[in-house]
Amino acid sequence: MIPEIILLKGEEDRLLTNHPWIYNNEIYSDDVSAEAGSIVDVLNSKKKFLGRGFYNPHSKIRVRILTREKDEINQDFLKKRILSAWNYRKSLGYNDFCRVVFSEADYLPGLIIDKFQDYFSIQTLSFGMEIRKNEIVEIINEIFDAKGIYERNDATVRALEGLTEQKGFLSSEFPTEIIVNENGLQFYADLAGGQKTGYYFDQRENHAAIEPYVKNAKVLDAFSYTGGFGIHAAHYGASEVISADISKPALDILQKNAKLNGLEKKIETVEANVFELLRTLNSNGASFDTIILDPPPFCKNRASLDQAFKGYKEINRRAIQLLKKDGFLITCSCSFHMLPEFFIEMLKEAAMNTGKNLQIIESRMQAKDHPVLLGFEESHYLKCIIARVV
Ligand code: SAH
Repeated sequence: MIPEIILLKGEEDRLLTNHPWIYNNEIYSDDVSAEAGSIVDVLNSKKKFLGRGFYNPHSKIRVRILTREKDEINQDFLKKRILSAWNYRKSLGYNDFCRVVFSEADYLPGLIIDKFQDYFSIQTLSFGMEIRKNEIVEIINEIFDAKGIYERNDATVRALEGLTEQKGFLSSEFPTEIIVNENGLQFYADLAGGQKTGYYFDQRENHAAIEPYVKNAKVLDAFSYTGGFGIHAAHYGASEVISADISKPALDILQKNAKLNGLEKKIETVEANVFELLRTLNSNGASFDTIILDPPPFCKNRASLDQAFKGYKEINRRAIQLLKKDGFLITCSCSFHMLPEFFIEMLKEAAMNTGKNLQIIESRMQAKDHPVLLGFEESHYLKCIIARVV
């Protein structure tokens, strides 16, 4: 008998618009026999079945819906879901390097699988996925005949699920430094030591999109990490690129990446806090043709949105000040809470403060292997606006 969770009257609305989460304060009666990570059925106040999902009494997100049918949730179910996600990526031509599974957006709540040829970096960020980790490893081995799997569960969000942070091999050990091929360029990724799962696949298409905006340009690549944007800029014909990041290990890899692609003469790295660097460049009267801003998420919840808005506005204002007329600003936010309309409003205010204005020429998002599930707004996290200074 599958334990049942009955919702309070009227609390089914979000579920009915395809959102997959039930919060603790939306529940009328919990089945106390349900254990963390186990499967429960969710019913509305009139006891009508709405869906089936992972239960977690430790989390404010009490249930994460897996299916709206009465499917049996077992290894075969998970395998079909993972295969379906993989087949979609393959149909678009992704093969060696991509995100195979993007959590809720692929109907696999809390599961991330990134593929680096025959090696995999995974995260199980929900209790339900965590206790099924062995099954997931078996599935990856079955589908891909994996040479190695690494767990990057050193993610702070795990605490919200009552899970500890951990990382390590889920297969026999293998060299975790791998060369990623992206848009014909090569990048070192370290599955064990890099940020998140080792590489940011979500910016791949935005990296390629900068080509028309960097020819013969003096480019500032701010929050460069290992050079995703900067190395593309140099490759697409920038005359010089300054890549800045606060992380020395990231810049060390960037320099290796630059050499790997024969672009080291064009790229200078600066270890700095970008907020301070932009201030200094402004007071030195520096100027650029193209500036890329790709900061880490400034807000991880709604409460920090005001502060985050100010942070985004400050770096964008200073970047616009540094740009020549007709220059290009390529500006990103990977905070879901900074909704697209807030991001545009922030840009408008930032531009106004400089006395210049912008034409928006591209409004972009995360790469296609990170699909946005309608009804689950949280899956639309990355904004990338390309604008021209007028
Ligand atoms: N642009 C990269 C990804 C950037 S991730 C790409 O396309 O691959 C965000 C980066 O911002 C991280 O490398 C992090 O080290 C850096 N960072 C965070 N806070 C910073 C700060 N205040 N100043 C400079 N870099 C910072």
